[in-house]
Amino acid sequence: KMVLESEKPETVSEKAFADGNRIHVFVRLRPMSKKEKEAGSRCCVRIVNRRDVYLTEFANEHDYLRLKRLRGRHFTFDASFSDSTTQPEVYSTTTSELVEAVLQGRNGSVFCYGATGAGKTYTMLGTVENPGVMVLAIKDLFTKIRQRSCDGNHVVHLSYLEVYNETVRDLLSPGRPLVLREDKQGIVAAGITQYRAYSTDEVMALLQRGNQNRTTEPTRVNETSSRSHAILQVVVEYKVRDASMNIVNKVGKLSLIDLAGSERALATDQRTVRSIEGANINRSLLALSSCINALVEGKKHIPYRNSKLTQLLKDSLGGACNTVMIANISPCNISFGETQNTLHWADRAKEIRTKACEPNEEKIEVPESGTDQTKLLLELQKEN
Ligand code: ADP
Ligand code: MG
Repeated sequence: KMVLESEKPETVSEKAFADGNRIHVFVRLRPMSKKEKEAGSRCCVRIVNRRDVYLTEFANEHDYLRLKRLRGRHFTFDASFSDSTTQPEVYSTTTSELVEAVLQGRNGSVFCYGATGAGKTYTMLGTVENPGVMVLAIKDLFTKIRQRSCDGNHVVHLSYLEVYNETVRDLLSPGRPLVLREDKQGIVAAGITQYRAYSTDEVMALLQRGNQNRTTEPTRVNETSSRSHAILQVVVEYKVRDASMNIVNKVGKLSLIDLAGSERALATDQRTVRSIEGANINRSLLALSSCINALVEGKKHIPYRNSKLTQLLKDSLGGACNTVMIANISPCNISFGETQNTLHWADRAKEIRTKACEPNEEKIEVPESGTDQTKLLLELQKEN
């Protein structure tokens, strides 16, 4: 059955997202690993009331002095997840509203930020037993599609790409680097695989394979690179009738982003060959910081063009888009400095305002009879 736009109940979140709004910022603390416990690591983070984050001890005097200077001891976010928060809880609090909005033809993006080992990939991709936001979002998307219509009218496409060393690669079909182009939907990676997904079952395996295609560090053979940014894009396209019975094509895009380790933006060994990579990661993450700073300060010019990452994220950051940031942190006192940096950055991101998020829609002219499109429309009408 075709869904009448005017009949659909308006959710609270839809209202909230419809007027210009700010980025929603969440923090997730990961549990301490067995190894870390055995090494005598102490926890330096407390989460209170599901909102407040306190840094409670310092690894050394240097951190203490720095802390005094920055006064960054207490932070508060839209929600802060303790180390016992489950994947579905993280998904439903941070991302389920964005999935709903994508089904209204709106754009949304979620990105994970934090130091290497802080839990970004666990949050985004997760494991087979505990799938993360990417998988839960797609699962939820298919459930919601089934609930709202039985016309088989929604088309879902997935693309999964990597930005590594200022090069864009297709994670679903590795090969030559992709070129970025501007088209009417924004910046796109030309020729990227658009995988038509019909159900959730295939998705976890697909994404895990894709993740294995991420560039690995030469020195840490079995580890996924901490310098690579991974972006999953989910595009949902469908047709509806508006109040005056015109057929309207709607397109919503959800981008889920697992950023490179944020520590690279601060510490880079300029002397080794690897510094070329480091400098480029610096470039992408620094460019991201500059864009965020410019957005926070309400500047007219936002320097998106400075890196591949920021070009790709252009419509996810300052555009008409619902944006969620999840800052991942480690509990260990040895990571105190990184944790504080991450929290400081996340605190700043709270200030970003985004534009009103209007649905992307295009009225379809009723074509001459006999064309494929007419047949499609007639079929749709028959099902009504
Ligand atoms: P990152 O992608 O930020 O470098 P990972 O997601 O790979 O970090 O996490 C580092 C390790 O910690 C992995 O072994 C991961 O499985 C584990 N981990 C991270 N977050 C959690 C969590 N919330 N619950 C259980 N294990 C986690
Ligand atoms: Mg990772």
